[in-house]
Amino acid sequence: MTKLEYTSIPDIVKIHDELEKSFREGYTVDIKKRVETLKNLAYMFEENSDMIQEALEADLGKRRQEAYMTEIFNCINSCIGAVHNVHKWAAPQSVSAKFPTNMLGPQVRRESKGVACVISPWNYPLLLTIEPVIGAIASGSPVMIKTSELSENFSATLTYLLHKYLDPKVVRVVNGAVPETTALLKQRFGHILYTGNGTVGRIVQHAAAEHLTPTTLELGGKSPAVVADDANLDVITQRLLWAKATNAGQTCVAPDYVLCTPDMQERLVEGFKRVYKQFYPEGIRNSKSFGRIINDRHFGRVTGLLKDTKGDIVIGGDSDASDRFVALSIVKNVKADDALMKDELFAPILPIVTVPSMDAAVNFIRSRDHPLALYVYTQSDQVREKIFQGTLSGSAVQNDALIQVGTEELPFGGVGGAGHGSYHGKRTFDVFTYERAILRSKTWLEFLYTKRYPPYSEKKLKY
Ligand code: NAD
Repeated sequence: MTKLEYTSIPDIVKIHDELEKSFREGYTVDIKKRVETLKNLAYMFEENSDMIQEALEADLGKRRQEAYMTEIFNCINSCIGAVHNVHKWAAPQSVSAKFPTNMLGPQVRRESKGVACVISPWNYPLLLTIEPVIGAIASGSPVMIKTSELSENFSATLTYLLHKYLDPKVVRVVNGAVPETTALLKQRFGHILYTGNGTVGRIVQHAAAEHLTPTTLELGGKSPAVVADDANLDVITQRLLWAKATNAGQTCVAPDYVLCTPDMQERLVEGFKRVYKQFYPEGIRNSKSFGRIINDRHFGRVTGLLKDTKGDIVIGGDSDASDRFVALSIVKNVKADDALMKDELFAPILPIVTVPSMDAAVNFIRSRDHPLALYVYTQSDQVREKIFQGTLSGSAVQNDALIQVGTEELPFGGVGGAGHGSYHGKRTFDVFTYERAILRSKTWLEFLYTKRYPPYSEKKLKY
C-alpha cells in the first residue's frame, strides 16, 4: 500500500499558486472540460474500487460491502448526477424584471468563487472528500484537498489516484497534520468546505475571516433517537442497531443516544438482544460485518467512556486493544450527566436515557446544542410533528436513520453548533459558485436614460 507523505509548507503555497493561476487564466471555465474531469473521476472509481476498499479496511476495518454501500456507490452516483446536470446548473437564468430593466437582458449567472478548499475527516474519508470535490469541479473551481492524516492508508491511496486520473491544474491533494493545515488555511480561497469537529471548525472560521472567505462547516454533535411507546419494535430495533453499528459508530449522523419511557427501555433492550444475535451469529468479535476504531487514541477514549459510565451495560461492553475492537454496546439507565452524555460519542455505544413523556424528550433535546440529525421512531404523525416542531436539527427522520445522507436532493448540513451551510447534489455546485447579476444594455436604448444626466431640471423629473 502507498505510504502517506506529508506535503512541505513551500509546496502547499506553490500548489495553491498554481491552482490560482488556473483560475485566473480561466482554465476551468469550459463546461466540456468540467464534464471530462467528472467522467475521469467516475472511471477512477470503476477501475480502482478494490484498492480503495483495501485502504479503508486497513484504516477503519471497514468491511468491503459497507465501504461500497456507504462511500463508493454514493460517489459514483454523484459523479453521474453532476455529469448529467452540470450544463443545466451552469446555464444563465433569465430574470423577469420591470420596465425598463426588462429591455436589458437581466440574467443571473452562477460562476465560480475561485479556488475551492476541501478539508475532510477520517470517518468516511472517501465520501466526505469526493462529494464536495464533485461540486467544486462542476462549478468550474480548481480544488485543493486536504484529507485526514488519521486515515493514512486511504489518504495516501486517494492522493495517488487523484493525481493519476485528474488534471493537476484542476485538482490537487496536500497531506499533513496541524502545521500543514495551518499553512493551507493561510491561503486565499473562493470557498472553504470543512468537515470535522467543532474545535477545528472554529480554527477554520477564524482563518477564513482573515480573507473574508465564505465557509461551509459540516460539524458534529449528539444526535438523539426518540423512541415513542407506539414504535414498531421489530423493525426499528434493526434499523437503530444497524445505524449505530455502521462504521463502528464513527458516523456523524449516527443515533448518539436513545430517549424513551422506562417501559419502552425494557422492550427495546429485549429487541436489541434479539437483533444482535441475528446480525452477528458468530459473535461480534469474529464478525466480518463490524469495523474497528480508527486509532489507539480513540480506542482509549471509547473504552474510557465504557469504564466511566454509571449506566448498566446490558449488551457488549468488551474490547480488545490488539485490533482496536470495541463491541457494539447498549447501556441502559443512563443519566443526563453521565460520561456518555457529555460529548458526541463517535463510538459503537448506544446509551438509553429515560424520560416520562414525549414533551420531556423535546425539553431534553432543546436544553442541549442543536443536533446534526434527529430521529423519531413512532407510527403517529402527531408524535412525529411534536418532536420535529419542538426542536432544531440539520435533518429529521421518522422511523429510520442515516438514509438522509444518501438522498442527494436533500440538503446535508447542520444548524448552530452542528455547523452552517449545506451541500449535496446541485447544492454542492451552488456552494462553490456565486450569483452574478448580469445586465446587457444596448446603446440604442439611450433614449430611455437621457433624463438621468445633468444638468438636472424640473422638466427631467417629469415622466
Ligand atoms: P480529523 O481529526 O481528521 O479532522 C478533520 C480535519 O481537520 C483533518 O483534515 C485534520 O488534519 C484537520 N485538523 C485537525 N486538527 C487541526 C488543527 N488544529 N488545525 C487545523 N486543522 C486541523 O477529524 P475529526 O474532527 O476527528 O472528525 C470527527 C468529527 O467530524 C466528529 O465530530 C463528527 O461528527 C464530525 N463529522 C461531521 C460530518 C458532517 O458531515 N457534518 C461528517 C463526518 C464527521
